[in-house]
Amino acid sequence: MTTDTAAQAAYVVAALLFILSLAGLSQHRTSRSGVVWGIAGMVVALAATVGLASRSISATGLVLIVVATAVGAGIGLWRAKVVEMTGMPELIAIMHSLVGLAATFVGWNGYLDVDAELSGSLLGIHHAEVFIGVFIGAVTFTGSVVAYLKLSARIASRPLTLPGKHVLNIGALVAFVGLTIAFVARPNMGLLIAVTVVALALGAHLVASIGGGDMPVVVSMLNSYSGWAAAASGFLLANNLLIVTGALVGSSGAYLSYIMCKAMNRSFISVIAGGFGTPAAAADEGEQGEHREISAEETAELLGNATSVIITPGYGMAVAQAQYPVAELARKLRERGVEVRFGIHPVAGRLPGHMNVLLAEANVPYDIVLEMDEINDDFAATSVVLVIGANDTVNPAATDNPSSPIAGMPVLHVWEAANVVVFKRSMAAGYAGVQNPLFFRENTQMLFGDAKQRVEDILRGLDTLDTPVREMAGTSR
Ligand code: NDP
Repeated sequence: MTTDTAAQAAYVVAALLFILSLAGLSQHRTSRSGVVWGIAGMVVALAATVGLASRSISATGLVLIVVATAVGAGIGLWRAKVVEMTGMPELIAIMHSLVGLAATFVGWNGYLDVDAELSGSLLGIHHAEVFIGVFIGAVTFTGSVVAYLKLSARIASRPLTLPGKHVLNIGALVAFVGLTIAFVARPNMGLLIAVTVVALALGAHLVASIGGGDMPVVVSMLNSYSGWAAAASGFLLANNLLIVTGALVGSSGAYLSYIMCKAMNRSFISVIAGGFGTPAAAADEGEQGEHREISAEETAELLGNATSVIITPGYGMAVAQAQYPVAELARKLRERGVEVRFGIHPVAGRLPGHMNVLLAEANVPYDIVLEMDEINDDFAATSVVLVIGANDTVNPAATDNPSSPIAGMPVLHVWEAANVVVFKRSMAAGYAGVQNPLFFRENTQMLFGDAKQRVEDILRGLDTLDTPVREMAGTSR
């Protein structure tokens, strides 16, 4: 068997491993094995690629590849080890930016180092591939950098609204098409620089135009773009595995964006066009009346007398690392005969599935963790809702106020419960920068402080209460 045949066979194995990885990652129970399949696929892919490259490059070149791979793997391992769960979105965004940058470089290299055997229409196709690769790569690069800056709060999450922003976006696309035609006819450095600049500006503008509340869709959309950028590089490098892997990432990212759009009641096309962000209402609307406070001891008493409790966690639970005491609270209440369930909003936290991961980590039984659609009708018949570090995802303005930046986004109807206790440190707005009228409702009480400490206080308070409301038997609901 030649090296080439062996490498192509290894690529097929790697592609299958990546597909298994995606399948594994689609469910909590199998996600660990999904990661292992992915690692195995990448090891096979790297070994085959280095083996293939070793035929045509010098020993020094090979050493440089191995050193670069080791340095990259070292940085990747270090970042993955030190990153906090709450820092994952910005880590993912910056990783996408590297894919975009790599695709841009591959495109440039494709122009500077053209295969001498290419001629006629094949050369034209090659130059079109160069342009498309550079364009997608550069859009992904600056879009991901802006997403990183927004997600890590280095710049405001408010949408940028330049006058005629849609005309600017469409103008950039028209310029891209025109430049591509010109480049295929007469390839030259000036046109390549021009398309790179247009794409860099378009990527930054698309993501800068999107408001904080819509960032979940942007993260998955950039995931998709990075896949297409990799696929474009695959065509340029004539690397089948890169094409397949890029297409897998691109299409799964696009599907995830579609799911997120549905969850947030947004139009997919509008997001791709950077069409969100309602500037007038994006600012904090200030306080909207008097709020009432409750202590941890009083909350323990309220819970001790409750028959049903729904816990709706959000980003603040992740920040406070409160999932363990929250799981303990659920366990204790169930022991007392209280029906306890969790209501999970699809974009709670800062990652798709963020809350599910935290609750699984704390061993909360899967059967009491319900998705928004499964639980939204049950709030009206619930004694107490504990809103633990959630804000935008429980904001009634999304349903009541058509001018709100989050108008139309489905939210958890926590306010329909008899009592709502909101755990947070202040009256500050959530990620979308919108004040939450829930905090001023008559049936809402604020429990201020770090969520983990307050839940621990409640656990101590529960211990001092008298006999359980009911006995343990039959409390598996
Ligand atoms: P929000 O981000 O709206 O609000 C979180 C709340 O937690 C804040 O109001 C904050 O209030 C509170 N908080 C922070 N730290 C603590 C702490 N230590 N203890 C107690 N409370 C704390 O949360 P949601 O989960 O409801 O909404 C998620 C938002 O993030 C949505 O707007 C979503 O669109 C966006 N987003 C989601 C992504 C995803 O993929 N899931 C990705 C990117 C963005 P205070 O400061 O007063 O304590």
